[in-house]
Amino acid sequence: MIIFGTRGKGTPGEELVTEVCPVCGHSLHRTFGITSYFHVFWIPIFPYRRRAGLVCSHCQLSRVGKNLPRRVNEAIRPQLFSLPRLLPYFTGLFLLAVLVAWGNWNDARKLERHLALIDDPRVGDIYEVDSSEIFREADPESKYLLLKVVMRDGEALELASGSLGYSSFFGCRNAIENRETERGQYFQAERIPVDIRTLRKWRERGGIFDVHRPAAD
Ligand SMILES: [Zn+2]
Repeated sequence: MIIFGTRGKGTPGEELVTEVCPVCGHSLHRTFGITSYFHVFWIPIFPYRRRAGLVCSHCQLSRVGKNLPRRVNEAIRPQLFSLPRLLPYFTGLFLLAVLVAWGNWNDARKLERHLALIDDPRVGDIYEVDSSEIFREADPESKYLLLKVVMRDGEALELASGSLGYSSFFGCRNAIENRETERGQYFQAERIPVDIRTLRKWRERGGIFDVHRPAAD
């Protein structure tokens, strides 16, 4: 369930003595601001309306927004809605920006790591692949599978294909997390000869989308 909507928050401002109350004739007023904002789960995303207000300290007559004389409105707004007071209403946007930046940084790190692993394969490395980007005869219904490096000699490699294809990449992930890949029968005996250049090409066109290197024992 997503809870979102709009809310308003009042903040007190400075006193004002230059305005005469139209009801009681006294001139001491308190100023206040009302900021209306969008929120998601009560986290402010951004403000969409700011109204200044004036309360007579004597008779409590309250005037807000358009009911204020224009010059009073213009005079008190800068103090009521100064930048430090407004910034908290952008908390959600700020968090979102941090999240996106972190995601981008993470993706860049992951890509960097993938490229390093693909440039220098080791026996035991496992590639999560979309076989439709690699093999012409791939089955589109179960195109996600695992390829394991079983031999390396310089630039030349031999890969063994997993005996199971999956309809989603979660299948690959689960097979690795559940250690199905460590069972003797998981990878086929048939070997696929490739070279490192081919691996890089597969990576470029999205054929290889994740690389696992077993931790050294
Ligand atoms: Zn008054």
